[in-house]
Amino acid sequence: MKAAPYDYVRPSSIEEACTILAEAGGGAQVLAGGQTLMPLLALRMSQPFILVDINHIPELQGVTSVDGGTRVGPITRQNEALVDPILNRDLPTLIRALSHVGHHQTRNRGTIGGSIALGEPAAEMPATAVALGAKVEVRSASQTRFIPADELYFGPYATAIEPDELLTAIHYPAWPDDTITLFREVAMRPGDFALVGLVGALTVEKGVIARAGICWFGMGPTPMKAKSAEVALIGQSIDTLDAAATADLAIADTAPFGDHHATADYRRTVGRRIFVRVLQEALNMRQAA
Ligand SMILES: Cc1cc2nc3c(=O)[nH]c(=O)nc-3n(C[C@H](O)[C@H](O)[C@H](O)COP(=O)(O)OP(=O)(O)OC[C@H]3O[C@@H](n4cnc5c(N)ncnc54)[C@H](O)[C@@H]3O)c2cc1C
Repeated sequence: MKAAPYDYVRPSSIEEACTILAEAGGGAQVLAGGQTLMPLLALRMSQPFILVDINHIPELQGVTSVDGGTRVGPITRQNEALVDPILNRDLPTLIRALSHVGHHQTRNRGTIGGSIALGEPAAEMPATAVALGAKVEVRSASQTRFIPADELYFGPYATAIEPDELLTAIHYPAWPDDTITLFREVAMRPGDFALVGLVGALTVEKGVIARAGICWFGMGPTPMKAKSAEVALIGQSIDTLDAAATADLAIADTAPFGDHHATADYRRTVGRRIFVRVLQEALNMRQAA
């Protein structure tokens, strides 16, 4: 199929892009890596009358350390981010999750911001942003605002980003060097969207869990923060904590659905198993260190 007709513009600054989005009154779509948008246009599942290509706005590119945290420009390609020295040093949890996004070819074009703005419930980057406590910066012609990642998603592909707004940065808070990464996903084939996935980060001080950020993907209509498990883990000794009981709390914060790939019960069962396994493996490694 061919996309419905649209005008194509290529702004060279954030201001110019925001002006176009404002004037379009909801009839525009932002083009980043196009890995999802181009097929949607071709299938006429998206029919904007103006396509705003943001790939030529330098301010939207790149990774920097800011105020102890990390700022990621939305059009940073997923493969560029995978080898970025700042991200590899400061956010190994993000790198671990990113290595499971799509394929080498799709990561060459796909962007970090495109994945976060899209809001696919089974995607790794939205869940990672929620788990790490990130916030997104969005700009319109009239204002700049910051949205915590765990307040960004309302449903599948439904976000708090307004039609006249552009996602202009993702801000990840600092996590200490010895942060424990939790990551596992189950997919039909490598590169497929996850049927069930878990991403998280833990910090341990004197053998006790001091900080926990955990989020499911593919386990509900949005990234599903495992809030009850996070609260239960903090203050617990890594020698005595009960991974199975924590897994029950984590599963309680999910709302998996059934589809032609897997039933909701399958997702719950597998989710519970990978939670216990990932947590025990991570803590065993820490105890052995
Ligand atoms: C074969 C294949 C396999 C894939 N597997 C996975 C996978 O396993 N995991 C995964 O997470 N993804 C997967 N993807 C999706 C892909 O990797 C990208 O993550 C996804 O397409 C979004 O990034 P993009 O830069 O291509 O965005 P685009 O397709 O350009 O845009 C996606 C949406 O976000 C909006 N948008 C983009 N940037 C902004 C911005 N700065 N401000 C406001 N709105 C914006 C666009 O308007 C559009 O609605 C796969 C894609 C393909 C083709």
